[in-house]
Amino acid sequence: MSVVAFEGRCFDGKSLHRSAVLKIDTGTGMILGFGERGSVDLPRGVKVRVLEGATILPGLIDAHVHFYSSKGKGVNEWAMVPETLAALRGAGDLRRLLHAGFTAVRELGTKGGVHLAQAVAEGAIDGPEVVSCSRALAQTGGDDDPPAFPLELAQELASYTYFCDGPWECRKAVRKVARDGGRVVKLYASGAFSRGGRVKPNFTAEEVRAIVDESHMAGLKVAAHAYGSGPLATVTECGVDSIEHGLGLTAAIAKDIARKGIFYVPTMVTYANPAYRNRENEMVKRHLSEDLSIARECGVKVVMGSDIVGDAGRPHGRNYEEIVAEARFLGNREALTAATSRAADCLGLENAGLLREGFRADAVVVRGDPLSSIEALAPENVVLVLKAGKVYSRETGGNAP
Ligand SMILES: [Zn+2]
Repeated sequence: MSVVAFEGRCFDGKSLHRSAVLKIDTGTGMILGFGERGSVDLPRGVKVRVLEGATILPGLIDAHVHFYSSKGKGVNEWAMVPETLAALRGAGDLRRLLHAGFTAVRELGTKGGVHLAQAVAEGAIDGPEVVSCSRALAQTGGDDDPPAFPLELAQELASYTYFCDGPWECRKAVRKVARDGGRVVKLYASGAFSRGGRVKPNFTAEEVRAIVDESHMAGLKVAAHAYGSGPLATVTECGVDSIEHGLGLTAAIAKDIARKGIFYVPTMVTYANPAYRNRENEMVKRHLSEDLSIARECGVKVVMGSDIVGDAGRPHGRNYEEIVAEARFLGNREALTAATSRAADCLGLENAGLLREGFRADAVVVRGDPLSSIEALAPENVVLVLKAGKVYSRETGGNAP
């Protein structure tokens, strides 16, 4: 057993400790003890690294990313990137995320997403744990179906999506995700604004219900992309596990979302991006000004998710900006909870997201105090990252960007 200990100010995933000791076993990658000095048994010879002027947090979790690995923007460009190049660029993005303090991400539609997840799990590449949906589920003619191509070619090129129509095709698509090794099912219950600036509902309630039922039978959670009150009401009623984006939230729907314990992943940075095409859309403006307040007031479980896709407009690396954006509405402590313990619950990671004995030794140490200044989470302030007990830092030449 190889024991290492750190001492300093800690946010444990739920609350702040002015000073606490984190004791880990680098062999098993687990936390052996956490708490005030004196309450954690430190065998003679164990060196305690005291972190002055820094804060220890659980590893950050981004619940909504993609690895499109494209130098362009938009569905046609994403579709045209060869899979090998996408995988190699994706590996670079994963390394950047890890060095920025992210120890888990949920990817919701990526070419070869399950293979990126596998490569990280095997240790072939450095990166956060990837909870992959393998491919998203979308209706024929939805936003992920590049219309410039004949249908068969579109399906082949859009190899981050299964097109499916009708409850039985939807059930079969869920079975394919499970067969691929996907750990979550992603569905598009609406379009975005890609075609003419209007949002169209996608999938009928019957189709959404079939996807949820089949996914839950397979032990998989369901993440639903939904814009607009119609699609939001449908996915809430059908019992999905998380709502992605959630533009057009109303208090009545938010109360139902809270009552059912559904997570809400607002992906604010995507819409706040100056390059975002539909910035002037009323629904987008409202999302950036009101939706999170409604969610908070109604007791909705908000989770950090950026929808950074890894293309020219939304490159990976500064995903923490989503935490900053959410903190404006939730406050710093709640935004940090949304990016740690609550995100772990959303992803179904049972022993991650908290600094607790018996949990995985996933942590990030940043200079400063993100509870008083959330910008302390910026990658340039990251001192070191622990993932399953393994230390990554600039000092040790851990390929920090
Ligand atoms: Zn997305």
